[in-house]
Amino acid sequence: MNLGEAESSRPRVYRLGVLAAAVVACVAMAYGRSAAQPGGEASATAPEANPAGPLSGLATFEFEEVVIRANDTLDGVFRRLELSLADLAELRALPDVRRSLDRLRPGDIILLTHLDGELKTLTRRLSDTATLTVRRAAGGFSADIIENPLEQSPASMNGSIESSLFSSVSEAGGTDGLAIALADVFKYDIDFVNEVRRGDRFVVTWQQEFQDGEFVRDGEILAAQFVNQGKVFRAVRYVMPDGSVEYFTPEGDSVRKAFLRFPVAFGRVSSGFNLARRHPVLNRVRAHKGIDFAAPVGTPIKAAGSGRVSFRGNNGGYGRAVILSHPGSVTTLYAHMSRFAKGLKVGDKVKQGEVIGYVGMTGLATGPHLHYEYRVGGVHRNPATVPVPKAKSIPEELRADFEASSAPLLAELDRLDQPAERLVATAGS
Ligand SMILES: [Zn+2]
Repeated sequence: MNLGEAESSRPRVYRLGVLAAAVVACVAMAYGRSAAQPGGEASATAPEANPAGPLSGLATFEFEEVVIRANDTLDGVFRRLELSLADLAELRALPDVRRSLDRLRPGDIILLTHLDGELKTLTRRLSDTATLTVRRAAGGFSADIIENPLEQSPASMNGSIESSLFSSVSEAGGTDGLAIALADVFKYDIDFVNEVRRGDRFVVTWQQEFQDGEFVRDGEILAAQFVNQGKVFRAVRYVMPDGSVEYFTPEGDSVRKAFLRFPVAFGRVSSGFNLARRHPVLNRVRAHKGIDFAAPVGTPIKAAGSGRVSFRGNNGGYGRAVILSHPGSVTTLYAHMSRFAKGLKVGDKVKQGEVIGYVGMTGLATGPHLHYEYRVGGVHRNPATVPVPKAKSIPEELRADFEASSAPLLAELDRLDQPAERLVATAGS
């Protein structure tokens, strides 16, 4: 064992001349309030925390914060700190503890208190919401897993687009994750790359997740409104009886549609549907019976709708292409792929949004892009404007419940829909 190495593994060593109770309290503070024993203050654990030694008042405990490095084991940590290996064996024999302790990842933190090589307490965060605490008790070690659930708290904001959705959401105090979630709610109706304009407005009310009063992350969007070039879109979250989450319009229509308008996320429309276009490679008038989305080679291409693979292979000017068959004699075609999704073959069922291949420039293409076609009964239609079937509306038996749960969310959207001023507010404050 190299001493320098051992030192580097203990970046922070606290030497504390304190009461045992204070050490337990200290560990409790480091991991949040619920690390204290249920039903009592930390001081209540004092007799238990040091049952072996006479509680003469002051005892010198050491408090270690160990940061796990690559290939670290608990055995290695105990050896470095010169802690009792018999204690470690006893610890690992406890039900559930072995499983919670043996899987160490670099960067994990383990808090230990010990006295003269004898382990007193060990605390390890297992997840965002669970902490393992082991204490020396009268009859040996005892272990608890303490749950510290995330608290949900609704928040709301509004804003208007200056340059991009991301910068506007960020300026109004939101995270990139919130901007992505907002774009995801309205992805069936709004093309956030090609159609969003300066002056477009949004209102969003969503769940923020906190733990011990600290912001952890943004949760789900509860309701949102986006005004795109004067057209108002609204969506309200509803939890279906099977636990799945759906977004509906205030009227109870699903915001989901049978087809995505844009099979490439964040692709730029480089050529629209045009029945009299001069072809860039052939240099003669030839109808462009689809939409081109410019995107880097390798960008995932998603199935616009659920269906079955009816063609996968090389097809002349289309290069590597996939054709999907959908209900209602609709077919969609995806061309110029660099490669197909692994394992994809004719006859496979695919779900809407499933990756079927990757952007490339095979066949007649001047640069990397997806050429996308939508046909009904064999006739080409403009994918940007063709009316597509909607997903199911709210079932009649759930309508009353949906209206009751969406009313306060819609009222919140109304309250914040004030284009004259930008305000950021937290619901309930
Ligand atoms: Zn094209």
